[in-house]
Amino acid sequence: MFDVLIIGGGAAGVSTALLLGSAVKKPYAENKKIGIITHQRASYLQTGIYNNVYGIKAGTLGSDLLRESLEQLTELYPHLEQIDKEKVTAISKTDFGYLITTNKNEYQTKIVVVAINSNSPMTIEGLEDYIIPHEKAAPSKNRIQLKNTENLVTEGLYVAGTLAGCRSQLSIAAGSGANAAAEILTLWNNGEFAQVHDAIGK
Ligand SMILES: Cc1cc2nc3c(=O)[nH]c(=O)nc-3n(C[C@H](O)[C@H](O)[C@H](O)COP(=O)(O)OP(=O)(O)OC[C@H]3O[C@@H](n4cnc5c(N)ncnc54)[C@H](O)[C@@H]3O)c2cc1C
Repeated sequence: MFDVLIIGGGAAGVSTALLLGSAVKKPYAENKKIGIITHQRASYLQTGIYNNVYGIKAGTLGSDLLRESLEQLTELYPHLEQIDKEKVTAISKTDFGYLITTNKNEYQTKIVVVAINSNSPMTIEGLEDYIIPHEKAAPSKNRIQLKNTENLVTEGLYVAGTLAGCRSQLSIAAGSGANAAAEILTLWNNGEFAQVHDAIGK
């Protein structure tokens, strides 16, 4: 049983994972079991070249970011479980949280974060009630999003990145993932605002 399972290993999903992983020493995040399903074939990052993203060297390939971001996750936060090469096919509500079905396995989780981008049609069954046309993409592109407030779709179900309705820019999608993580940390911290800052000399 996971406490949080993130679906999608792109900009938003990995950002969610990095922030949740970095909270490992916070008492409210102690012993939380966190996982990320890092299927990456359908990522917008696969064909992008990035010149305009804060903190990223000009000319960086998205395909390199996909690999390096997971290496960073492994190196810094090895307690976070990475499940690769599995594609999620369905999400269903249960008494304990959610059952996540992939093309290979089933996982149980209390909280799920869906970060699979705004491509249509939706490839995961069980989210139909929350799908609306994307509010910040050209209608001709036929993008979709899930209805949400501050990343929360319904109890225990969060969305992040372009599927949350943010514009398709790398730093905005990554910020959306970080926001989803901060919302979850705040929930674990009994509603008290939570943040994780590392600093020189501490
Ligand atoms: C060609 C191109 C060039 C771009 N150039 C720029 C640029 O110059 N500057 C800029 O700021 N932005 C640029 N972008 C936009 C930027 O890449 C996206 O906004 C950003 O990647 C969106 O992040 P995301 O997390 O929402 O989606 P993604 O990064 O696409 O991540 C979604 C993840 O979910 C996974 N996934 C999908 N379905 C499933 C499933 N069923 N099960 C499990 N996993 C699944 C995907 O494989 C992927 O890993 C570009 C995009 C493209 C396509």
